[in-house]
Amino acid sequence: MEFSNIREVIKNEPRYRTDQIMRAVFVDLVEDWDKVTGLSKKLREELKKKCPLEIKGEIFISSNEDSVKVLMPLVDGKLIETVLMMYKGERNSVCVSCQVGCPMGCKFCATGKMGLIRDLTTDEIVSQVLFFSRYLKKEKKRVRSVVFMGMGEPFANYENVIGAIRLMHDPKGLGLGARRFSISTCGLVKGIQKLAKEELDVNLAISLHASNDTIRRKIMPVAQTYTIKELLEVVDDYIAVKHRKVMFEYLMISDLNDRDEHALELAKLMKGKLYVVNLISYNSTGEFKSSTQKRMKHFKNILEENGVEVTIRYRFGRDIQGACGQLATEKGKHQ
Ligand code: SAH
Ligand code: SF4
Repeated sequence: MEFSNIREVIKNEPRYRTDQIMRAVFVDLVEDWDKVTGLSKKLREELKKKCPLEIKGEIFISSNEDSVKVLMPLVDGKLIETVLMMYKGERNSVCVSCQVGCPMGCKFCATGKMGLIRDLTTDEIVSQVLFFSRYLKKEKKRVRSVVFMGMGEPFANYENVIGAIRLMHDPKGLGLGARRFSISTCGLVKGIQKLAKEELDVNLAISLHASNDTIRRKIMPVAQTYTIKELLEVVDDYIAVKHRKVMFEYLMISDLNDRDEHALELAKLMKGKLYVVNLISYNSTGEFKSSTQKRMKHFKNILEENGVEVTIRYRFGRDIQGACGQLATEKGKHQ
């Protein structure tokens, strides 16, 4: 989908035409320009040629039907993955990718192993959500929230990520409230500082994954650039401006960061702030082992006993390799 081309094609049309077309694409979710009545044949043909509405994707549904993954081919043949997570009570959330691959090289992450292949455009990010808006429409359901936890580092493609959020937030676009968006970052402090200046009040999540710099440096190259202390200072500045709770993601890796002493160390960092910790069960990508459920619960208890708010991330679509943050490359098919 090339939304940017739509503007170009209709630039000489009257203003109401733009609204009509935006409504057709984002509200009525049409997949065929011929279904948009009231457009001249000439205009329809031009839109068909320059802005085809088709969004291709191969669909995989998890066995317990709580998630659906789509593998989407881009114009240059590269592939990206997007996941729809269906919570009970209709909290349908789409986990989007913002890059093909990722430049940050986290050791535990399948996407990180690919390196950066390229940034996604605003259109490519929005198309992922539109794909699932269309998919859910058939069941009379809607996309309720969008999380940037697929492939890539959102703050390494800042402008396109924010551009996509603006388009999806636009009442004439998908009309999703700002709080329906969550950006997860490995801790690029410049991105956090920029986000603090945006008018949009989206949710921010930080992939911390360690209770001290020594461990963090072993698994996340970004920790060589910024210490946890520097990162938390910037997060606190962000909270001072936005007054919004920030989530810290913590992957539970056996023996590396899941011992009692790590829980206590983490509690010291987290306590008394507008923070919430989200413990994530690690989906092993080879090098490390995931912690047991029992260990995770114990770790959670220690944090809670020390005054930290904690949640554990529910696992989605394991059988389709479709849990958030685990999207990538099987057998190099993204190359
Ligand atoms: N680049 C961003 C957002 C994408 S990753 C970031 O790192 O925050 C989204 C989340 O999935 C991150 O918390 C990431 O650390 C986590 N993740 C990566 N690999 C994972 C794996 N194998 N199992 C579980 N979570 C993983
Ligand atoms: Fe990139 Fe996030 Fe994976 Fe790290 S965890 S390599 S930042 S996608």
